[in-house]
Amino acid sequence: MKLPFIIIIDDDVQVLRAIQRDVRNKFREDYKIIATESAIEALEAVKELKLKNETVALFISDQRMPEMEGTAFMEKAMEIFPEAKKILLTAYSDIEAAIKAINNLNLDYYLLKPWNPPEEKLFPVLNDLLDDWQNSFIPEFAGIKIIGYQWSPASHRIKDFLTGNLIPYKWIDVELNKEAAELIDIHKIDSAELPAVLFEDGTLLKCPAEIDLAKKIGLKSTALEELYDVVIIGAGPAGLAAAVYGGTEGLKTLMIEKRAPGGQAGTSSRIENYLGFPSGLSGADLTRRALTQASRFGVELLSPSQVVDINTKENYKILSLSSGSEIKTHTVIISTGVDYRTLDIKGISELTGAGVYYGSATAEAHSCKGKNVFVVGGGNSAGQAAMYLSGFAEKVFIVIRRSSLDSTMSRYLIDQIDKTKNISIISNSNVVEVKGENRLECITLENTKTGQQMVNEAVALFIFIGARPVTDWIKLNIFKDSKGFIETGRDSCKYENFKKIWKLERDPYLLETCIPGIFCAGDVRAGAMNRVASAVGEGAMAIKLVHEYLVSV
Ligand SMILES: Cc1cc2nc3c(=O)[nH]c(=O)nc-3n(C[C@H](O)[C@H](O)[C@H](O)COP(=O)(O)OP(=O)(O)OC[C@H]3O[C@@H](n4cnc5c(N)ncnc54)[C@H](O)[C@@H]3O)c2cc1C
Repeated sequence: MKLPFIIIIDDDVQVLRAIQRDVRNKFREDYKIIATESAIEALEAVKELKLKNETVALFISDQRMPEMEGTAFMEKAMEIFPEAKKILLTAYSDIEAAIKAINNLNLDYYLLKPWNPPEEKLFPVLNDLLDDWQNSFIPEFAGIKIIGYQWSPASHRIKDFLTGNLIPYKWIDVELNKEAAELIDIHKIDSAELPAVLFEDGTLLKCPAEIDLAKKIGLKSTALEELYDVVIIGAGPAGLAAAVYGGTEGLKTLMIEKRAPGGQAGTSSRIENYLGFPSGLSGADLTRRALTQASRFGVELLSPSQVVDINTKENYKILSLSSGSEIKTHTVIISTGVDYRTLDIKGISELTGAGVYYGSATAEAHSCKGKNVFVVGGGNSAGQAAMYLSGFAEKVFIVIRRSSLDSTMSRYLIDQIDKTKNISIISNSNVVEVKGENRLECITLENTKTGQQMVNEAVALFIFIGARPVTDWIKLNIFKDSKGFIETGRDSCKYENFKKIWKLERDPYLLETCIPGIFCAGDVRAGAMNRVASAVGEGAMAIKLVHEYLVSV
């Protein structure tokens, strides 16, 4: 834990040395001490401490100093560390100024010089004030701080990235949190440069790109090896399971993730049907556990890093990354999952990230406190999001096209929703328009039966309307079904030009595509079950098949 500071200022060197010696002898174990003859120098030091996220517990200042009086110094210092205790060092002649400061400045004590013996005249006072400070002091949040406007898409992008990568942060809303003005002033941030991200070491990044944030939080973007046994594309449940099994099997394994590990499951507030977790677990928790497991077994992770192309050269597979670099591997597992479908209605592109969100219920739930929010979609992901949001919002409305949730949502979720007083279902309805100046202010719903439209005030709209496979980046001739899901195993054999591509005597393995050595697992696979458990199972199974492939080449 960081030690708090005691700052001592006195222009008389003899007095300064004496009080510094006494304070140091008694308090050096628990406090760091800065002593200076100059009030201006002291103020600079105080500002510097604030920039470094340090804390000041106590100011001890002489009253009569040439650069500025002690009371003037205290006034300025209190703007930076308002909770710190304040002692004025005074001569007899300055008692009047000290008493004035007690009233005007909330001075905690005035200490008459000299203070001998310190055991009687100095330490009891300091002990008392520092105890008091410790009792009321709430340590400042020590991690990453994001300062910005709630309804800015860039703020949402940064919060979403850090949440997805399991990095805790403190959100400081410029319009609601007083701390924002102070930080903006200290760090000289122009409002056009927001959002700004402040790190524990004092580094400030203004409106950073994900790649800059990734570097700063220590995520890796370059591969260590020349050649891998297996490269897994996508770190959702399927990819994570493949990584863990690849690592435990001793394969040289690399996993590449374009956004944040966890995939769709990572955005889930509560997965209740995953084996072995009777009271459920959050997607973030599942991801954290899996990542720890994978890294324990030596799996490398590149994130955020996007695979943009895949090619074969003899028996090798060559992956191209968006950074321009290439990775060579014996085998590949494609586990790129699915992406949310977007809602194509009037006004939506301008407000995405500014009140309209795709699958980010956990990152934005706090901003919905006491407000009305809408969730669009009748599947399990919409149900989970509504349940999670109901803990924050005044009212949650689930908008569905059908007349009930019965055919689209699991029974356990429907039961939970029925029992939750602040969730209502708006059935037979579509969202047809969203409106707002700089942020979402209202949405228009249309009844599918009557055509009647209704405008509703809303601060947030969370959209969960199904998904499409993430396969359009694949130019290689891998068979996909009519919706773009990847075919595997014997299902590839039914394609007309299968024999032109597949030249081995054996059929493709169960999770192998029509290109030998390229496997596929999870939601992106044609016929997948769209569940965490099945994605995990397929990821594990894919590694077993990778093994079989490797011994056969
Ligand atoms: C909100 C929500 C709640 C859910 N709740 C449950 C539940 O309670 N129980 C349950 O069983 N299932 C649940 N599901 C479904 C479950 O999460 C999915 O079935 C599962 O995540 C599929 O895993 P996956 O690894 O196949 O794909 P995904 O989870 O989709 O992961 C794919 C990953 O690949 C990455 N990627 C894509 N393209 C590239 C590329 N070119 N380069 C690098 N990386 C790439 C993506 O960024 C993503 O991280 C839920 C889904 C959602 C959205």
